[in-house]
Amino acid sequence: MELLKEKIVIEGKVLSDTVLKVDSFLNLQIDPLLMKEIGEEFANRFKDEVITKVLTIESSGIAPATMLGLTIGAPVVFARKKKSLTLSDNLYTSKVYSFTKKETNEISVSKDFLSPDDNVVIIDDFLANGEAVKGLLDIANQAGCKVVGVGIVIEKGFQDGGKVLRDQGIRVESLAIINSLNNGMVEFV
Ligand code: 5GP
Repeated sequence: MELLKEKIVIEGKVLSDTVLKVDSFLNLQIDPLLMKEIGEEFANRFKDEVITKVLTIESSGIAPATMLGLTIGAPVVFARKKKSLTLSDNLYTSKVYSFTKKETNEISVSKDFLSPDDNVVIIDDFLANGEAVKGLLDIANQAGCKVVGVGIVIEKGFQDGGKVLRDQGIRVESLAIINSLNNGMVEFV
């Protein structure tokens, strides 16, 4: 997706050989027009599938997932990283090690919003080692849903999440795949 790649090149900041900061349009501030195109692009990539729910994880997955949900007319379910008073039982849970925070969170999704009748697409902002997606797949499995695929805004192709998922036969659609962040430069596949 050329618009996304341009945005990454112009506004992205390479923090290290493994971490890209895209706070200005994806993580701390959202570019709604870009996000709308991202939602339409995901819808186009998965147009051969009937999708009943979009599943993501807070916080940065919610914007692209919502734009996909808006485009195809499907509700968006998101996993929370912390329990709250209003979300304490009736949950599917899974453990996820966070690449950026270097800590393990128990993520949870309400049992009310996923069922064995659902055909689900999993959406996230970044794919690094695949831990977040694996947690969401685990939750979809617990709910008995069918996962038709995974949509990622930015995949770091030099980390092994994409390979691990594709080797398991999971369809992964990434809108921008980065080959390397070496020497402060973003190089796409
Ligand atoms: P994974 O679970 O695939 O190892 O890592 C993906 C998760 O970590 C994403 O949900 C994203 O929030 C965060 N993440 C991983 N790498 C990066 C990165 O380079 N930049 C940013 N902004 N977030 C990242």
